[in-house]
Amino acid sequence: MTFEALGLNTSILKALTDAGYTAPTPVQQQAVPAAIAGKDLLVSSQTGSGKTAAFMLPSLHRLASIEPAAAGKTPNQEMQAARARGERPRFKAAQPKMLVLTPTRELALQVTTNTDKYSVNLRRIKAVSILGGMPYPKQMQLLAKNPEILVATPGRLIDHMESGKIDFSQLEILVLDEADRMLDMGFIDDIEKIVAATPEGRQTMLFSATLDGVVGNMARRITKDPQIIQIMSAANKHENITQRVHFVDDLSHKNRLLDHLLRDETMAQAVVFTATKRDADTIADRLNIAGFSAAALHGDMHQGARNRTLDSLRRGQVKVLVATDVAARGIDVPTITHVFNYDLPKFPEDYVHRIGRTGRAGRNGLAISLVNHAEGMHVKRIERFTKQMIPVNVIEGFEPKKTSFPPRSSRPGGWKPGDNRGGNKPGQRSFSKPGGAPRRDGVTGSNEGYKGPGFKANNPYNSDRPRRSYGDR
Ligand code: AMP
Repeated sequence: MTFEALGLNTSILKALTDAGYTAPTPVQQQAVPAAIAGKDLLVSSQTGSGKTAAFMLPSLHRLASIEPAAAGKTPNQEMQAARARGERPRFKAAQPKMLVLTPTRELALQVTTNTDKYSVNLRRIKAVSILGGMPYPKQMQLLAKNPEILVATPGRLIDHMESGKIDFSQLEILVLDEADRMLDMGFIDDIEKIVAATPEGRQTMLFSATLDGVVGNMARRITKDPQIIQIMSAANKHENITQRVHFVDDLSHKNRLLDHLLRDETMAQAVVFTATKRDADTIADRLNIAGFSAAALHGDMHQGARNRTLDSLRRGQVKVLVATDVAARGIDVPTITHVFNYDLPKFPEDYVHRIGRTGRAGRNGLAISLVNHAEGMHVKRIERFTKQMIPVNVIEGFEPKKTSFPPRSSRPGGWKPGDNRGGNKPGQRSFSKPGGAPRRDGVTGSNEGYKGPGFKANNPYNSDRPRRSYGDR
């Protein structure tokens, strides 16, 4: 199928050709014609599937068909006209036609960048990002231009709505991108408030890794007779990403193995995921000392520093990005060849998002989890979630002293018959947690096996996952 067959206007088609897109991805093939026809959409597809274009191309097509006269004056022009009439200019709220809500700043910036690419020949249509961490005066300047498209994280958007800077009465299209993540991050009340401020007659498109549970309930509440699109593409299943588990005995073993794997000649750029912000900094420092060009990325960094780090990654100056989950969401750098789970993620969904940082834009990728023996159960949960077995790999010279635990069967997340489901077998090592938090700075310690709170436990003080009251404002 071609983009022409989807019914997009010629300005958009030209931009797609210039961007090097030759054919629509499966989610685009299904979503674009339905969205051009004005249907509400519920789409289950993940990052990497081409979902941004799936909602943005038909939206641009629709927005481009609105007559310029109907678009009205910008708040800046209104104020100038008032001054010319000798009146005191009153601030007029921005009236966007389209709103895209995203869980993180990085994803919002990514969506805006892609939108700029797709709308390059549609001079009248502008997209701006409204994000937590960005200075208010800068955002006021952006809003004063009355952009057609706002791409925003929920917290900061609510601030502007409540102070009367944005008026959604003219909104035509609402997109919730990675809706499951927004709910995970505690944005449900903000989303409900934003949706309630938009016209009933709007078109709504919701994208989410899953359409089950809470997300499904919300999706059905805010859409009308939606078309449901479920994409199980290779990118969704990450078939282009080779996954591996390497068992390690302790932190020293883990650090040596990481250094060795990072020196692999097939490694162009890597993302190393850690559980905490502090570890991201510590490991980035250690890798720099070891001669890698590494940088940390986490939620404690100012937005400017985060953007600079991502730019350096895109330009290839940073070879190894050491990141926490939230900060790394939405990173779309096709030259990332490797993803390392230095720490396993707390939630299996995060594993899927993490490994999706590699194998982008049709390339292959390698995702390696460095797992201590006590974390075998966590691997099992991930395998159950992804319905894929992750093979265990051993590198000569880096063999773990212990054998892997738990015993593995050929079923994803499965167990060999006769394995221990309760208590240790005679002679088997106990995996009780030793005291104290482990050191992550490469110092060999006795804290092997324990890495802070368990897989399920969500320790907000360690995690980069924002708590409700710490929303992305
Ligand atoms: P997304 O799932 O929106 O994060 O997109 C993943 C990557 O695929 C981005 O780098 C897009 O620029 C790229 N992409 C999206 N659609 C296409 C397409 N039809 N052809 C080639 N690349 C695409």
